[in-house]
Amino acid sequence: MSDTQRSVVCPACGGKDLYVTVKTVHCGGGYAPNLLPGLHRWFNPGAFRAVLCADCGLHRMFAEPESRVAVRKSPKWRQL
Ligand SMILES: [Zn+2]
Repeated sequence: MSDTQRSVVCPACGGKDLYVTVKTVHCGGGYAPNLLPGLHRWFNPGAFRAVLCADCGLHRMFAEPESRVAVRKSPKWRQL
């Protein structure tokens, strides 16, 4: 089960009318904001799935597994 499938309740409003992108969304880079810096190669942009709550509008992004592995060793990210 993916992270997006586990998120069946909106953490902001408690709503359950959630939608996830059917395909992955490229994380940007180049002239667009790079939403996953350091976690992908320039010719192979990282990707995420977006989840949107139709009740309150909260929009969340869930990085694909490759980025979640890379973040642990990336110098561009630090653990909170
Ligand atoms: Zn909501």
